[in-house]
Amino acid sequence: MSKPSILDYSKAELAALVKPSFRSKQIWGWIYHQYATSFDTMQNLPKAMREELAQKYEIMPLKIARKECSTDGTIKYLFELSDGKTVETVWLKMKDESIDDEGNVENEARYTVCVSTQVGCKVGCTFCLTAKGGFSRDLSAGEIVAQVLAVKADNGLAASKRLNIVYMGMGEPLDNLDNLAKAITIFKDEEGLSISGKRQTVSTSGLSTKIDKLGEMDLGVHIAISLHAVDDELRSELIPMNKAYNIASIIDAVKRFPIDTRKRVMFEYLVIKDKNDDLGSAKKLVKLLHGIKAKVNLIFFNPYEGSDYGRPTRGDMVKFQEYLTTHGVLCTIRDSKGLDISAACGQLKEKDLNEVIS
Ligand code: SAH
Ligand code: SF4
Repeated sequence: MSKPSILDYSKAELAALVKPSFRSKQIWGWIYHQYATSFDTMQNLPKAMREELAQKYEIMPLKIARKECSTDGTIKYLFELSDGKTVETVWLKMKDESIDDEGNVENEARYTVCVSTQVGCKVGCTFCLTAKGGFSRDLSAGEIVAQVLAVKADNGLAASKRLNIVYMGMGEPLDNLDNLAKAITIFKDEEGLSISGKRQTVSTSGLSTKIDKLGEMDLGVHIAISLHAVDDELRSELIPMNKAYNIASIIDAVKRFPIDTRKRVMFEYLVIKDKNDDLGSAKKLVKLLHGIKAKVNLIFFNPYEGSDYGRPTRGDMVKFQEYLTTHGVLCTIRDSKGLDISAACGQLKEKDLNEVIS
């Protein structure tokens, strides 16, 4: 039986656990500013305290099991958890550093970390590789937090360097709402990683009642809705859970969600060849989003071995995008980052399993 991870505790919980309070502050600093992974390195703590902590807790509840680096700067990690299960995390370089004529850094590079919230997923989307393995368990708050800490440390990114977090890895974040909310709060802590709510985006397949709950928590995060289809028949084929939470219920929940007035709700639309890539769908999408400050992100379906669907042509994607843009809906085509590695969600894990089996 493994020890509880210290990353599972919020700052207030840690303060209740470790007295006097300046000690818990020191520990918090060691973890979130120095990326300490052993209590032994916390040299300003009394030796007896370090030993006691080490007996009771571990720090990092995961280790790198596999790492793939793409030529575009994307790095995909497969992390092994304490119970041997694995999840994926992706480190994305969104913008390169730019240097002016004098050799000074003009703009710093920007990074986003795509984190997992569950081992597997219950939602069972027919296009998603994560769904194929079924559901195993929820990640704890500490296991969610650890993914960001581990990739920041592995890439030597100073603690003060901000990054964005997207909850778009394996699992359905809103199906693990309590641990998700706790992780969001730990990330936000200004004496810790200090990643504000507006830098965190929760992507959901559309559990409308949980969208409401997340909104009530008022954490200041963004939401992204994995819409993928404009009518319930196709959406239920792609996302079986749509039978319980249909499109109308999702749109209603989005309208109730507290959104920063300067921001937009992101709608992700996975484009699948000959399924939802036609202009008729684009037309319905414009109608559906009427009255919402939305931004649509078109995603190429990324085929994998044995997948039932095909990748759309770039031409069809561009036509779809143009239709939306000319009808007043902001729309981008997501550049598929890391295409030379196992890009889409669940694909690195699958590769690992195949290699173990063969
Ligand atoms: N469960 C949440 C978040 C994780 S899924 C959700 O569904 O929103 C993260 C993203 O990966 C989703 O937008 C999903 O559409 C996308 N995805 C899954 N399988 C994919 C594939 N084969 N090709 C491209 N994107 C895929
Ligand atoms: Fe789960 Fe998201 Fe994959 Fe659907 S797309 S099975 S909700 S991880």
